[in-house]
Amino acid sequence: MSWRDLMCGDARSGDVGRAVTLAGWVARRRDHGGLVFVDLRDHTGVTQLVLNPERAPEAAALAGELRNEFVVQASGQIVARSAETVNPRMATGEVELAVDRLVLVSRSTPLPFQLDEENVDETLRLRYRWLDLRREKLQRNLRLRARMVGLIRRHMEAAGFLDIQTPILYKSTPEGARDFVVPSRLHRGRFFALPQSPQTLKQLTMVAGFDRYYQIAICFRDEDLRADRVQELTQLDVELSFPARDDLFRTMEEMFGTVWRECLGIEIPTEWPRMTHAEADRRYGSDRPDTRFGLELEDATEVTRASEFGVFATADAVRFLRVPRLFSRAEIAALEEVAKERGAKGLAYLARDGNGELRSPIAKFLSEREVEALDPKPEETLLFAADARAVTSRVLGHLRLHLGRQLGLIDDDAFTFLWVTDFPMFEWDEEQGRWTAVHHPFTRPTDEWRDRFDQDPGAAVANAYDIVVNGNELGGGSFRIHEPDLQARVFALLALSEEQQRSQFGFLLDALGMGAPPHGGIALGIDRMTMVLAGEPNLRDVIAFPKNQAGLDPMSGAPTAITQEQLDELGLRVVVPEEPS
Ligand code: ASP
Repeated sequence: MSWRDLMCGDARSGDVGRAVTLAGWVARRRDHGGLVFVDLRDHTGVTQLVLNPERAPEAAALAGELRNEFVVQASGQIVARSAETVNPRMATGEVELAVDRLVLVSRSTPLPFQLDEENVDETLRLRYRWLDLRREKLQRNLRLRARMVGLIRRHMEAAGFLDIQTPILYKSTPEGARDFVVPSRLHRGRFFALPQSPQTLKQLTMVAGFDRYYQIAICFRDEDLRADRVQELTQLDVELSFPARDDLFRTMEEMFGTVWRECLGIEIPTEWPRMTHAEADRRYGSDRPDTRFGLELEDATEVTRASEFGVFATADAVRFLRVPRLFSRAEIAALEEVAKERGAKGLAYLARDGNGELRSPIAKFLSEREVEALDPKPEETLLFAADARAVTSRVLGHLRLHLGRQLGLIDDDAFTFLWVTDFPMFEWDEEQGRWTAVHHPFTRPTDEWRDRFDQDPGAAVANAYDIVVNGNELGGGSFRIHEPDLQARVFALLALSEEQQRSQFGFLLDALGMGAPPHGGIALGIDRMTMVLAGEPNLRDVIAFPKNQAGLDPMSGAPTAITQEQLDELGLRVVVPEEPS
């Protein structure tokens, strides 16, 4: 006997008269004076079972025991529903199963939440994740993810990339986050680090002559959590030798084209716009611009250099958004709060009403020449940020997104992919008092900066790029340094002593010294890609068993304490922070 010969979502009018067996979960039970109706569900959909005491007295009696999420097997005959009971909202709505035999396969304890309940507390959902995953949305998200990963694999293999697995127990790989570490029992006092990415390893596959590598890799980054960030992420990791940037870009564009076509039925452009990091910052105040709408930043630094409005005259940069509408005082106050979220001290504005009158507390300080140059049109409001240039980008980039949403400027059905290229190589870390790599320390400078990046590190440009869609960074990569001397110079600029270079990356420097081909690659966040593909705002809802926002797993309780015996074996002693008295 087989458990089932039809899936719950598959019964159609063409099946009328067939004797079939279904198996699945009870989604709902209704008693109608003798007749019992049961919605039987599996991942394909729902079929209505009808239990009639006259047709099948035993089955009908048993049906009284059924509760939501019990597992049952039902055999009977597919029959047509009467015209007035046809349900056009259900794919199986023209038919039902007249049950002859019912088997109660498995019971369920009372449910902590109903599967169709909205707004269930996330911790509760994660605690009972197996139930949560039975829900339609999570089924859809995870199936979409699996489909996408399958397409990616086939695409990469067809393009000649080889799937090579790299270790999880490894050594620190710098991607700028904190490491997760694992103590070694065999070598007490020593620790593995979980890879933040397979970066150094994939470079070694190039030195080893594999030429084209890919992997769906798990990466671990011990960083603070946010709605769109997890500590255990999945990447499509890619590397190739003797790379041409256009070839790599095309491979990725085609891959996304296939995924979007097969998963969503949407054709996206085959060639994406490219924008340098400097341009993205200038026009959008962001390194991951949402180009679904305009509202670009404008610059008034020069125009206001001699302004009587002191804030403008003295600021490093004065930039603004030209918004095609007038705001009430209360609305301006709300926008000011939004600007302050990103470090603005205030929000100066200049508006011209429908009668051509200027409306602004700062208008009296601005000269005619300044107003003329700023050129507010009737019914327009200019919103200013005057600060260090980076702050103006942050503030106006954030405000732009806020206004895009608030004013309905964003087309929710659009996908605007682009490449952001030519990232800066280094940024100054105030806290550590040293330069750090914007991408990672293996990223090559552009040819122009190759010999002189150390003379002006803040201005040096890297051969690095990101894929951005609708304001989301989906991933990024770079061409790498394949010359040991150049690598050592970059390490030195990052204030790694020769000793540290040897102890942390000696193997890589050795490898680069033994015939390293030019190489480069990219890594894409599979979780983030699924989010965008599914239109799912919560990153955890595209992951089967995620940790919660505090980095804990409410289902298993992980992380948990280990036994004293395990601690002894590992040579570890736990120092519990003192409870404040
Ligand atoms: N390893 C890099 C990252 O995870 C990507 C790359 O450079 O290929 O961001």
